Amino acid sequence: MSNVSTQEESPTWRLLLGYVRPHRWALLAGAVLSLLTGATGLLLPLIARELIDDLAHDRTITGALLAMSGLVVANTALGALGSYVLRRTAESVVLGARRALSSYLLRLRIAAVDRTEPGDLMARITSDTTLLREVTTDSLVGLGTGGLTLVATVVMMGLVDPVLLGVTLAVILAAGTVLGLIVPRINRASRQAQNAVGVMGASLERILGALRTVKASGAEHREERTLHAAAEESWRQSVRAAKWSAAAGNTAGLAMQIAFITVLAVGGARVATGAIDVGTLVAFLLYVFYLMSPIQQVVGAVTQYQTGAAALARIQEALRLPAEPVSRPAPLPSPGAEPAAVAFTDVRFRYADDLPYVHHGVTFAVPAQGMTAFVGPSGAGKTTVFSLIERFYDPESGVITLDGRDLADWELAHLRSAIGYVEQDAPVLSGSLRDNLLLGHPDADQDALARVVKTTRLDGLVAKLPHGLDTLVGHRGTKLSGGERQRVAIARALLRRPRLLLLDEATSQLDAVNEAALRDTVADVARTTTVLVVAHRLSTVTMADRIVVMDAGRVRAVGTHRELVGADPLYAELAATQFLATND
Ligand code: ADP
Ligand code: MG
Repeated sequence: MSNVSTQEESPTWRLLLGYVRPHRWALLAGAVLSLLTGATGLLLPLIARELIDDLAHDRTITGALLAMSGLVVANTALGALGSYVLRRTAESVVLGARRALSSYLLRLRIAAVDRTEPGDLMARITSDTTLLREVTTDSLVGLGTGGLTLVATVVMMGLVDPVLLGVTLAVILAAGTVLGLIVPRINRASRQAQNAVGVMGASLERILGALRTVKASGAEHREERTLHAAAEESWRQSVRAAKWSAAAGNTAGLAMQIAFITVLAVGGARVATGAIDVGTLVAFLLYVFYLMSPIQQVVGAVTQYQTGAAALARIQEALRLPAEPVSRPAPLPSPGAEPAAVAFTDVRFRYADDLPYVHHGVTFAVPAQGMTAFVGPSGAGKTTVFSLIERFYDPESGVITLDGRDLADWELAHLRSAIGYVEQDAPVLSGSLRDNLLLGHPDADQDALARVVKTTRLDGLVAKLPHGLDTLVGHRGTKLSGGERQRVAIARALLRRPRLLLLDEATSQLDAVNEAALRDTVADVARTTTVLVVAHRLSTVTMADRIVVMDAGRVRAVGTHRELVGADPLYAELAATQFLATND
């Protein structure tokens, strides 16, 4: 995903406007407050001229002083309010982007996630969105208010003395040309800095996800170098961006100094010839001084936008990843719902266009109710069968049906609500044990929960844990053993009362006693549900109503244990060697 060349040309500002639109009125209010702040500032030189005039003609200056003080107070108050409103609005823009991205993330197709670095995706949601804050306030509002203030100031200057205005504009134009050369460099460096943050997130995710392996392999130093390299790359690029930003800011500053000196020289000459009076020169000089802020605002807006555009482009890339359609949560099957029938017809599938086929025309049919075991060497494509049933991926050709209906015609949430899936390496999510069990059925009642805990033999674990079901498990909680995790996963799936239960080597890590108990539970479930089980133990396989033997992406044979041992050499070999014959 860090390969980004194709996305550069599409307009990132359109994405930004999408996030800003809901807050346009608040943003406008903030901008108006900023403008009023500027306007109160703009009146000051005029009052200064009055004041000097009053002094020259021996008039009292109390009125002018009072007006000046009032303006300064108004200026400060409006400025403070304006910056609060703007900052608040900008935070809302960030919030909107984060919400949109989070929602999108949850809908991403598994195939899309397979090909991205989760850490980099996380960086896009957390760190890149943060940059939208500055883009909104500094760029969008800065450009608007700075631009307007600039125009207003120039108009006022023209009214005061057109000749001096011409001098000033010439200097500004020269500076603008230089700035045009600097600004694209800021964009490039910012983009690379943000990408480096993404790379760092990806490395962190990789390391923290396998910290035990990293330590056991003595690979800390090598991994440290990877992390440091990414951090340093971000530093290098940010420093480059800072260098060009500083150059841009100071070019603008220098231009103002030059303008100031030039105006002083030309204006002095004009005062000497009597073309203008001293008050006019002072007023004009004050305007040159006031020009500084809007010019810097506009330059800042443009340079800031370069940083923000880099972040926006990265966000845009994440939003281009293929996602599943939005669907409303579907109800779980009601008690006594019919078991589901599943059929594969000539299914061809590969995980990506540049990867070899994993299924070369898989065909089998599983009637509603009963237990079907899938066996075959590792890599045969058994887990892939389950992934396709869940529609984590779609087959390239062929048809998969549930209850005789093409999976593609099912509403995704409905399809998944019918299925209980225990993955091969079922994870435990951080949170309480209860949260983990209720993940697939948050509304399950206490009785159902207690029953499932008992049938999956988790009651012993619950009794042992300090806070029972409310004990935290996962990252910051009690670590569960492989066998305990598997039982949690089975309980989680059973609680949904699925019409189709998929068990992928779900009891591989259980001890003999627990395994035998779970086998009985599954046999019981199979009386009212369709159970597909990727089996690794002869005891499970012999219990199945039918066995599907898979090898290298094809179904070799379907039958009962007795039939297959005599008829299929691969099955006979698996039965003799690979199935762990414990409990038999
Ligand atoms: P089994 O469960 O029978 O051991 P799998 O269905 O898990 O086999 O995998 C079949 C083949 O597909 C294997 O060669 C595996 O490397 C490949 N594979 C599995 N998952 C992915 C994935 N997400 N992306 C790419 N290839 C995959
Ligand atoms: Mg597998």
